Amino acid sequence: MAYRGISAAALVLVLCASCELPTVPSESPAYEPSLFVDFQTRLIYHWPLGRTISIYTGIAGGSADDDLRAAILSAAAGWNRAVYYREFDIRLVNSPLDADVIFHLDVAPPIVDTNSCEGILLGAGGVTYFCVDEGLTAILSLPLAGSSSAQSRVKFDVTISSDPLQVPTRERFFGIVAHEMGHVLGIASHSSDSADLMFTAPSISQPSARDARTLRWLLHQPSDLDL
Ligand SMILES: [Zn+2]
Repeated sequence: MAYRGISAAALVLVLCASCELPTVPSESPAYEPSLFVDFQTRLIYHWPLGRTISIYTGIAGGSADDDLRAAILSAAAGWNRAVYYREFDIRLVNSPLDADVIFHLDVAPPIVDTNSCEGILLGAGGVTYFCVDEGLTAILSLPLAGSSSAQSRVKFDVTISSDPLQVPTRERFFGIVAHEMGHVLGIASHSSDSADLMFTAPSISQPSARDARTLRWLLHQPSDLDL
């Protein structure tokens, strides 16, 4: 009988691997994170909870590529610390065919065709580009650039400026990458507080407590756009 008891416990654990995420403590956002389509339409978007988001980095050549990958991993760790339940994970991949998101310097050749639709641009020394369908129901996949007919699953294309006037220091570079990652995760607006990472021109390189609270709130709202 004791053996059966252990089996039952194991069964509960197995079942809970597919449980819904636990209810989160109610929090309010520190600032408005919605996407403003027009004066009347505000949309929330985020990846399905528990999703691993795959990022491919474009090739600019030299140490800049290593810096970009380091900045992405630093940003991912910072945003991961902001949430309680592993609502998302972020990994780097070696092929654009496996990517949900592209990060590249402006001097790197384009990976996706950003002229395929009138996309939405969110910027701050970097630009996050994505396309919403006309019915405002989904964020569309961006076709791969060039003659490739391969199926793309890329939803966001992030361009980071290499202009030293816009990105004067390594810390600022890390901050811009982390800021743009905030847009990729669903924070579509900017904070008006200059102490936040999601301020238009961030002076920090990791999410503030207010950025973290805003993301936690946002991830547990229904997403208006399929991703
Ligand atoms: Zn921004």
